[in-house]
Amino acid sequence: MEHVAIIGGGFSGALQAINLLRHQGPRATLIERRTETARGVAYSAAHPDHLLNVRAGNMSALPQDPGHFERWLERRHPELAGSFAPRLVYGDYLAELLEEARTAAPERLNILQGEAIDVMPDGEGWRIALADGTIIAADAVILAPGNLPPHIPGGIDADALPPGAFAPEPWSSDVAKGLRADDAVLVIGSGLTMVDIALLLDARGFEGKIVALSRRGLSPRAHAAVEPSTRDMRPPTEAVGLLRDVRARSCEVGWRSAVDELRPYTEGLWAAADLTERRRFLRHLRAWWDVHRHRIAPKVADKIAAMRDAGRLEIVAGKLTDVTGREKGARIRYRPRGQDAITTLDVRRIINASGPQGDLLRTTEPLLCRLLERGLIRPDPLRIGIDVTQQSETIGADGEAHPTLLALGPMTRGTFWEIVAVPDIRRQTWAVARKLSNAHWVGGEGL
Ligand SMILES: Cc1cc2nc3c(=O)[nH]c(=O)nc-3n(C[C@H](O)[C@H](O)[C@H](O)COP(=O)(O)OP(=O)(O)OC[C@H]3O[C@@H](n4cnc5c(N)ncnc54)[C@H](O)[C@@H]3O)c2cc1C
Repeated sequence: MEHVAIIGGGFSGALQAINLLRHQGPRATLIERRTETARGVAYSAAHPDHLLNVRAGNMSALPQDPGHFERWLERRHPELAGSFAPRLVYGDYLAELLEEARTAAPERLNILQGEAIDVMPDGEGWRIALADGTIIAADAVILAPGNLPPHIPGGIDADALPPGAFAPEPWSSDVAKGLRADDAVLVIGSGLTMVDIALLLDARGFEGKIVALSRRGLSPRAHAAVEPSTRDMRPPTEAVGLLRDVRARSCEVGWRSAVDELRPYTEGLWAAADLTERRRFLRHLRAWWDVHRHRIAPKVADKIAAMRDAGRLEIVAGKLTDVTGREKGARIRYRPRGQDAITTLDVRRIINASGPQGDLLRTTEPLLCRLLERGLIRPDPLRIGIDVTQQSETIGADGEAHPTLLALGPMTRGTFWEIVAVPDIRRQTWAVARKLSNAHWVGGEGL
């Protein structure tokens, strides 16, 4: 294999390119439609107050060198060493790593700015079409498109609302634009994205009220220093047994350790669970899992707690029933959880933080639509991403795996589940690089 095209130059795609070079594998072309490569959604559209939610010690991009990011941080930002660093700083780290790789072997890594809109089989290989008409031939294609954007929540007709009353894209820099101190804002969702938005509104000087609405009103818990613990026994696979087991362990080792010690098992648990059990987990446990598993930095948690104490942020469990436009903003009606009565709220803006999506059948992304039409990819059975094998090979509509059309990152969660954070994706890109390079890397031990 001589040439691999990687579509999407966020964390997953950039790291894939770096890993191919490190394995002395095939030459790579990295295709990214944004002006910046390597940072993706998580590490570009951030404010300096947006911190990593994983300690620096576990954020190395290189699985065989766990201290790599920590050492980089000590050199570049010694004041941040050992902390939860700003996400923008992590973006600098990734961009530098990619640039280093390219400088070391410019003939083996080509970074192309453009949008891939189609991938076509071409003999033993593939042709990739970009929106500007460029065609690229490659022996293998790796899809690293990141999450799909959040859906517009039911009950909202964005076109019927006045301009500025609905912000569909939580990462847009103008979510705070035009807000006044006596305005109220509704954030739909109460997870990590809501936390980002609350911090951003605060940093931009917004002094009004933020109401965050989600079905259960759960919000991310905070990190704290914990003694790492390990389990003697494999946890049960079925959802109810697992919950019982984790509760019991929480009494012994504390809830943070009880959740963290599941990490070595989660991929295996997911693989062993049948579809019914996976659905049960998604419906009943996912929201709880997310807030305990994906925790926020203590400094961020303190800020959110202070905003709640001051009455500037209210997190509400409930269901949106309808939204109507007002001269400036919108009138929201929702049913608080466990109540029959409807509550009414007038807000200047609604911000959609309902969370990333993965349902291919609802996407309008040209590339994914074409791949679906061609039967080259299919949704996983839970419709949370692209169906792939344990080797990250896409599975077509006919059920056949494609060894040279692979997918990476959060869109492969249907197969791996724990494939969202850096420690998981770096392992995946490493394994794919080994496979495509016939494991020629010689710089140290592999996975
Ligand atoms: C806000 C946020 C904070 C996070 N914080 C942490 C953290 O602290 N610690 C941690 O471990 N994990 C964190 N994560 C999770 C994790 O790091 C991300 O999920 C990871 O960065 C995913 O990277 P990706 O490259 O798969 O996706 P993305 O970052 O979304 O990148 C995908 C890229 O593909 C490009 N693209 C898509 N389609 C095309 C196309 N057709 N043609 C060309 N380009 C295309 C997009 O422009 C984009 O740049 C965070 C995630 C988010 C969203």
